[in-house]
Amino acid sequence: MSYLLRGVAAEGGVRVVAADTTALVEDARTRHDTTPTATAALGRTLTGALLLSHVLLKNPQDRVTLRLRGDGPLGGVIADAGLDGAVRGYVSNPNATLPPRPDGKLDVGGALAGPEVRGDLQVIRAHAPYGDPYSSSVNLVSGEIAEDIAVFLAQSEQISSAVLLGVYLEASGVVRSGGVILQALPGVDEGALARLEANVRAFGQLTDAMRRSSLLELLEELCAGLDFKLLTPDALPLRFSCRCSDAKALDALAYFTPEERERMIAEDGGAEVVCHWCGEARWLGPEVIRTISRDEVRCPACGTLWYREGQAKMVREGERCACGRPVTLPA
Ligand SMILES: [Zn+2]
Ligand SMILES: [Zn+2]
Repeated sequence: MSYLLRGVAAEGGVRVVAADTTALVEDARTRHDTTPTATAALGRTLTGALLLSHVLLKNPQDRVTLRLRGDGPLGGVIADAGLDGAVRGYVSNPNATLPPRPDGKLDVGGALAGPEVRGDLQVIRAHAPYGDPYSSSVNLVSGEIAEDIAVFLAQSEQISSAVLLGVYLEASGVVRSGGVILQALPGVDEGALARLEANVRAFGQLTDAMRRSSLLELLEELCAGLDFKLLTPDALPLRFSCRCSDAKALDALAYFTPEERERMIAEDGGAEVVCHWCGEARWLGPEVIRTISRDEVRCPACGTLWYREGQAKMVREGERCACGRPVTLPA
């Protein structure tokens, strides 16, 4: 099972969030059928989003979206997580692959940011059920994701942090995946900070450490000499979980015209809608597809979609349609 731990060290001067995401990243790999390089990028991003949710969010319904885009063959990777431990995500090009780096590691930075290291990292906080989403972004510094998140936290949040993320794969799939964020909070003792930095430098690869020790043992190692205190005696379970539904799949089909939808029914007997986020396919039969027409209002002259039940107003009463006809919506 994947899980998350929170703790403090140095008498509250250092905040610690850590996650073992091995099972959920393996779940993501099989859902999206990603290459090893794409799996590593997706796993680091899913884990990073889960850790960030515990750093940036306050309310249980809020969510954080971590999106990286770059010039490399992956195109981009996105993950969306909340304090409930649910995360979902995908890569733009799950087939992307690059030769390993000279040190034998997967070239995640090259696959995401390309040889010139170009791209950006964006963090969007959505406050449910009301309140506008808040977004901020930084340029990628390496595309290796952990380092990019550390830069984001320093520049955008003014929090100096060490971020460790890793995904270790063998031919069978994901063997270890996890992440740790260590944050220096205002007022932290200088000596404690120096000790923490030395511990992090001496620590090495996270997934190597995860293969020999438990996550809790690793945190004690990272916080050696700093009196680590675990705040979560019961680890928070983490899982890959999407929020897609038949209703959202129907929303996707609503962008087609009624004629196009009738053609799908005539030619295929229905429509399959695959969710980007989780890779799950839904089959929508003729009766379900035809309910769309019941809930939408189109221009009688040109067929432009004016309004659909349950959606924010697309075209307002009194505006003019693309064809020039004044819009009239039912009360
Ligand atoms: Zn989904
Ligand atoms: Zn029109």
